[in-house]
Amino acid sequence: MSPMQSGPSVCSRAKAQHRTGEKGAACPPRPPGAGVPGGVYLCQVDDGLSCGACCGLYNLQEADEDRLLQMLQQRTEAFALTPRQIEALTEFGRKITERLGDRLPVSGFHHCPFLGLIGEDRTRVGCLLHPLGQGNDGVDFRGLSHYGGMACRIYFCPSHESLAPAWKKIVQKSAGGWYLYGLVITEDKLLAGFFGAIEEAIGRPLTEEDVAEDPVCASALQEFFRLKCTWPHRPADIPGPVNYFFNDRQRTRPAVVYPPSCSRPAPYDAIFRALGTAFETEAAIREAEGRIRRPISIISERIRNRSQR
Ligand code: SF4
Repeated sequence: MSPMQSGPSVCSRAKAQHRTGEKGAACPPRPPGAGVPGGVYLCQVDDGLSCGACCGLYNLQEADEDRLLQMLQQRTEAFALTPRQIEALTEFGRKITERLGDRLPVSGFHHCPFLGLIGEDRTRVGCLLHPLGQGNDGVDFRGLSHYGGMACRIYFCPSHESLAPAWKKIVQKSAGGWYLYGLVITEDKLLAGFFGAIEEAIGRPLTEEDVAEDPVCASALQEFFRLKCTWPHRPADIPGPVNYFFNDRQRTRPAVVYPPSCSRPAPYDAIFRALGTAFETEAAIREAEGRIRRPISIISERIRNRSQR
């Protein structure tokens, strides 16, 4: 049994560090920034956009979008048929956790069996135990979860504090759905490397308006975000696309491995590291740089051209 599956854990302590007010994975979108560290609420955004990354959403062997969606649909349907009684709900969670066994890519990062699809049309990811969840009649069952109801209510991931508000808004406007959104919004170093490079290219901080309503920018942003799923330079011993982002020093992303001929880190080293990278040749580094540079160039050129008009 892993440390985080055996009672109060480092992760739950990390969750409990943030005491800024009520939040919940099934809450309707709240007023922007109300009581939220960093001023922009990241967890539940609108009917189709939400995140469940801290509940281990992506910590599964099969975490591609289609399989994750199918799994959540099946789980949500099964939950709807489960009586809202402590024993039945506990058994529901126990069976799912048992089926997952010890095959999680990041051992000790709990995958919550009560993550499902929420909202009137089940269009976003969230907590099936939330009092506003379908069939719960206002009863808060979150105390049955691994971390308990309090941790679920008060935890905010590091991205809330570490990302610039405009960057958060840009990700929310461009991610196009909960899958990609939750996958990247916790990647503060990846996003800082990317948005930092764009800001360097345009010579000023990005604003939400720079990319709003621009389908070319949205498509370039998604191209970059998808690298989390398609990155070909991630070695087999680095799990992906899951991200262990808790500030508990339990796990850090290993440094990028460069070929011996390379005397210093590449300019996109922070991005490479966040993606999990090992290079065997200099040609591979050039190839990887091209993948990063392309969306950066598209977006910065669009912004520059617009400001010259
Ligand atoms: S990982 Fe961050 S943004 Fe996502 S649900 Fe948890 S606290 Fe919210």
